[in-house]
Amino acid sequence: MAEPLQIHVLSRNARLYSTRRIVEAGRERGHTMRVVDPLRCYVKISAHRPEVHYKGDILDSPDAVIPRIGASVTFYGTAVLRQFEMMGVFPLNESVAITRSRDKLRSMQLLARRGIGLPVTGFAYSPDDNEDLISLVGGAPLVIKLLEGTQGKGVVLAETTKAAESVIDAFHGLNAYFLTQEFIREAGGADIRCFVVGNRVIASMKRQAKEGEFRSNVHRGGAATPIRITPEERQTAVRAARIMGLNVAGVDIMRSNHGPVVLEVNSSPGLEGIETSTGKDVAGAIVQFIEKEGKAGKTRTKGKG
Ligand code: ADP
Ligand code: MG
Repeated sequence: MAEPLQIHVLSRNARLYSTRRIVEAGRERGHTMRVVDPLRCYVKISAHRPEVHYKGDILDSPDAVIPRIGASVTFYGTAVLRQFEMMGVFPLNESVAITRSRDKLRSMQLLARRGIGLPVTGFAYSPDDNEDLISLVGGAPLVIKLLEGTQGKGVVLAETTKAAESVIDAFHGLNAYFLTQEFIREAGGADIRCFVVGNRVIASMKRQAKEGEFRSNVHRGGAATPIRITPEERQTAVRAARIMGLNVAGVDIMRSNHGPVVLEVNSSPGLEGIETSTGKDVAGAIVQFIEKEGKAGKTRTKGKG
């Protein structure tokens, strides 16, 4: 058994499956686990002694924090996490890496720069460039995605150029940023969630979209089964997590006829689907990672950047 640690789980709800499992896995291994609601943390920013306050008390520095910050509270949640980093607390994932991963466009640019396979993607500002924006990803059918969408909301398959033009007009009308993307038809509505911890994919599942749907999100009725991934897919997932600077990540990959392509890199991947479909102790692997790597002061950025 490793030395007992004080670990805070930054999560809004202790009853969520992922939060519960992490707490359970930590306690089993002898650690003191506490769930802390990031929205009830407030901070004192001062040059000498940064503090995090919680419901009226000053929090003692834990050895590590596990951020489980939902997409809707990214701004506040990462600010609180940054404060812990300033205090020298080890974050399972760093605030800068989480911020990076929440921006689809920035993520794709970072991954592309390092040669990770991606669906061909377009981005433009002016409606005058619509025609090119459609043709540079190979024309219809193509996928159009709102930059801030999760759980498949805001991801549209445009079967024809006409359909693509109307979706793009609608998004422009709403002043919303969006991407156009090559449609990976050959994947047949399936993608692969690779759960990365450190330098390893510790579990992987295939998510298959339900009949008549191209989005495989569980929230859209997708079904999960375990899958064996290839060494190339394994390497792609681990490299993608590294490039984003994430110790723990859910890397979503599609099998395209130009090799594995990364769709997105999730910095707070859910545990329920992956543990249930693969039977793996993912929460245990996360806690073991902290035991091995989670030294106080071992944050790469200490909240900088
Ligand atoms: P979200 O953040 O909303 O989950 P994603 O980019 O992951 O957005 O897209 C949701 C789902 O839509 C994916 O899991 C995948 O099944 C499908 N999808 C997304 N992009 C493509 C694409 N370029 N080609 C084919 N299917 C796609
Ligand atoms: Mg997704």
